[in-house]
Amino acid sequence: MKEWSNWSGSAIAHPERHVAVRSEEDLSTLIKDSAGVLRMVGSGHSFSPIAAIDQGTLVSLGGFDSVNEAAPGHARIGAGGQLGAISTRLHGMGHAFANMGDINDQTLGGALATATHGTGLQFGCYSSMLTELTLMDGRGEKRVLSRNAEADLFRALAVGIGTGGVVTEAVMQTAKPYRLDRARYAIALEDMLDDFTARMSARRNVEFYYITGSGQAVVMESDASDAAPIARPEDRDQEGLAQLRLAGRLLGWAPWLHRFVLSRIIRSHSHEHFIEDWHRAFPTDREGIRFNETEYHLPLEVGPQALREVVALVEKQFPHVYFPMEVRTVAADDLSLSPFYQRDSLSIAVHHEAGQPFQALMQAVETVFHKYEGRPHWGKMHSLTATELRGLYPAWDMAIEARREMDPDNRFVTPYMARLLGL
Ligand SMILES: Cc1cc2nc3c(=O)[nH]c(=O)nc-3n(C[C@H](O)[C@H](O)[C@H](O)COP(=O)(O)OP(=O)(O)OC[C@H]3O[C@@H](n4cnc5c(N)ncnc54)[C@H](O)[C@@H]3O)c2cc1C
Repeated sequence: MKEWSNWSGSAIAHPERHVAVRSEEDLSTLIKDSAGVLRMVGSGHSFSPIAAIDQGTLVSLGGFDSVNEAAPGHARIGAGGQLGAISTRLHGMGHAFANMGDINDQTLGGALATATHGTGLQFGCYSSMLTELTLMDGRGEKRVLSRNAEADLFRALAVGIGTGGVVTEAVMQTAKPYRLDRARYAIALEDMLDDFTARMSARRNVEFYYITGSGQAVVMESDASDAAPIARPEDRDQEGLAQLRLAGRLLGWAPWLHRFVLSRIIRSHSHEHFIEDWHRAFPTDREGIRFNETEYHLPLEVGPQALREVVALVEKQFPHVYFPMEVRTVAADDLSLSPFYQRDSLSIAVHHEAGQPFQALMQAVETVFHKYEGRPHWGKMHSLTATELRGLYPAWDMAIEARREMDPDNRFVTPYMARLLGL
């Protein structure tokens, strides 16, 4: 059995086999003719073991990477393609995603399954752009769901967390290609939080990073622009991270000196301005020092208070954590298992270097996230199981029932998924 590992190395598994399917017929035959559990995998960029499988078959959709116009303002996209290749092709065809996250290595299938998101109060997660979903169910039968046909099942499976079926193709609502004018600068964290709603909605896309012990928010803002492109400066984020790590190691004993050095590092790395087409502007470089991550989505109105508490807790108990926290906003949707279900959200992500102990940090920040009824990102690390999740998702029972209808024999249920879903 060949070892499989996710991007950060936090999930390691030993599937009996890894099958790359190239057509719907292959996929249907695989499901019908095999026994045991199957688990889809995209790019393996989830931090939680949501894609991992021992004693079963790992399935990837290498052949499902087509991108075609479905109708004006809509594209039909294979679920196995990576967002980077998909967005380049969409751009060439006169289409665009209205929003993207901070990398483009994920597959569309993976991004839809976990409600992957970017930032901006006008924009929902990737699944909120869906208008039709084609899946192969647990009996190997093809199903096409949309807001017009089987709308309840569609809403239950649009954020499917890899249960209910293998997504092979999706029709997504698209925008016209646009250019983004992006600026990055540092301000005091308290100034950002005092004027939070106005600042987070002042531009099309706003997010910020907070570096433990610095007192500074590094803000990234974008607006659509018709201006001529200005080349993106060389990405120095990894160099900045290495400096933060060194500063933490050498100066942990002297908080005032540490803060001073952090402010110098932030000043030398925070300023950035460029104008690029959307598909080049969104993704950033996250290779280099790898990390683990937990991210919770909180009701927008409690976000600033929750962030203050998370910052205070990390600075007191985990001052050595040098990876920035990331703070974003996401618009509400009506998808049963979306963490943004019926609520505009503030997302707070806490990262720590891969290979370093993560559990204690995660459990500590979770005390704050749980207090404010945060819902965890499905692809990131968290400790919740079905009992708590059911209380956080008003449409939980409907989604579980839909999953049962699509996969009555539990062909897609690993032990991790069984704990998550209460099966
Ligand atoms: C460096 C980095 C940056 C990130 N940035 C962001 C970000 O900006 N915003 C954000 O929200 N998240 C972000 N993430 C998390 C990431 O977007 C999600 O975890 C996403 O699900 C990963 O996609 P993947 O293709 O790697 O899927 P995998 O991790 O391989 O799988 C994720 C889930 O999708 C299921 N799945 C995959 N393909 C299919 C399919 N065809 N049909 C049904 N189910 C399927 C799997 O079974 C599994 O349950 C980031 C992760 C990393 C490592």
